[in-house]
Amino acid sequence: MASHLLDQFAAVAPDRAFITNFDGRVLTHGGLDALSARLAHALQALGVKPGDRVAAQVEKSPETIALYIACVRAGAVWLPLNTAYTRAELSYFVEDSEPSLFVAAPGQEDKVAGVTVATLGTDGHSGSLLKLAAKQSDSFADIARGPDDLAAILYTSGTTGRSKGAMLSHENLASNARTLMQVWRFTDRDVLLHALPIYHTHGLFVATNTILMAGAEMLFLPKPDMDEMFRLMPRATVVMGVPTFYTRLLADARLTREATRHIRLFVSGSAPLLSETHRDWQLRTGHAILERYGMTETNMNTSNPYDGARVAGTVGLPLPSVDIRITDPESGKPLTQGEIGMIEVRGPNVFKGYWRQPEKTRAEFRGDGFFVTGDLGMIDEKGYVAIVGRGKDLVISGGFNVYPKEVEGEIDALPGVVESAVIGVAHPDFGEGVTAVVAKKADAALTEAGVIGALKERLAAYKLPKRVLFVEDLPRNAMGKVQKALLRETYKDLYH
Ligand code: AMP
Repeated sequence: MASHLLDQFAAVAPDRAFITNFDGRVLTHGGLDALSARLAHALQALGVKPGDRVAAQVEKSPETIALYIACVRAGAVWLPLNTAYTRAELSYFVEDSEPSLFVAAPGQEDKVAGVTVATLGTDGHSGSLLKLAAKQSDSFADIARGPDDLAAILYTSGTTGRSKGAMLSHENLASNARTLMQVWRFTDRDVLLHALPIYHTHGLFVATNTILMAGAEMLFLPKPDMDEMFRLMPRATVVMGVPTFYTRLLADARLTREATRHIRLFVSGSAPLLSETHRDWQLRTGHAILERYGMTETNMNTSNPYDGARVAGTVGLPLPSVDIRITDPESGKPLTQGEIGMIEVRGPNVFKGYWRQPEKTRAEFRGDGFFVTGDLGMIDEKGYVAIVGRGKDLVISGGFNVYPKEVEGEIDALPGVVESAVIGVAHPDFGEGVTAVVAKKADAALTEAGVIGALKERLAAYKLPKRVLFVEDLPRNAMGKVQKALLRETYKDLYH
């Protein structure tokens, strides 16, 4: 037995480019092999054993991807963390996941306590980890791992408060990458324009694993800078983005048929793509954006077809070997075709459960193995899935998930606050803008700027409310539940 995931990646001529970084540096496929071997030795030298978690909060770079591969080669579990997490947030992740090593950006070693820390910079040589790796051998015998062994844990927030670690096995990742390579027709001639973060399933697994499966190349941008996107598009064949990318590109006069001529496929996911965006994109470029649907826990579940109709406002058909059904959210009973209900998913892509949370895991799986996604949707007569809402009131701002409960908890803790409700309100740039509705004590001297300022210390920037609105009382229904639907309706034009 060898490494179940890694053994399925394509064998490619070593001098072929794997990642061409925005600064011109190139990591070849052979270079990835050598660097990940050195890093795997370095991880072992730092005490990382098979099954251990390696947590990392580092900036995007080719070396970060090499570290992910090194971690899997060493039989360990890759645990990437959003670069925006604050000290307070990190201490929870470290306590919960108990990594044997934490990799930080140089200069940020003291952000965590109680764990061995190494550093990794973005220029290809800085940080203690690369210095240690430089002294190691560039060949490494991969630690044997089977299909059900863990390859990664990605944290996904829960509506009931704390984030949960989604445990992803070698086969969860391998099966999805194999499928995506086939259905999206990736070959070793593809070049993916990659401007997504790599601590999230989209930029990490959907993009990187699929490229490795095909033996193809990626062009790395640290963020979706428009000048850079247009500069690189003539070199790329595929773009993967969140809807915000597409609305921003549409707002730019440089977006033309000519500018996108070299691209064979534009993929969108992580948040709903407006039908209007799909239509406008097709008019301007001649390309129909392919929308797909997935989540951290399940990898990708559905995709619009490569050949055949890409239907705006839908997330397409279940992927091969993925079962999808729609059930009554209360009873769990399957509904008939066309009815709206809870989306449930089963397949080799679906995660192994939440890290050290057997009860939460049990609560979200049915007896027959279906995972309850929390997304509400329907399946039309042609089998296309449409997502109609999020049962859990998740807010998706600029492609990032913001869980209202977490932000509400921080607001409620501020002096002078009675209670708060956080909702997503349609926003022209972010898709949804995090919006806080706050009931304050009569004599409290709270201001909008004051609340946002206080939250800055506690929450990553993307979770901060764009607006804070003060009310006397939050509206409640007969059961005492805050009526978020009513709040969303009241403030629906706030950003327009
Ligand atoms: P994450 O775990 O961060 O990938 O977020 C997963 C959630 O994003 C899903 O449960 C959906 O609510 C949402 N999502 C992902 N893709 C789409 C899509 N194409 N349309 C609508 N919502 C989506």
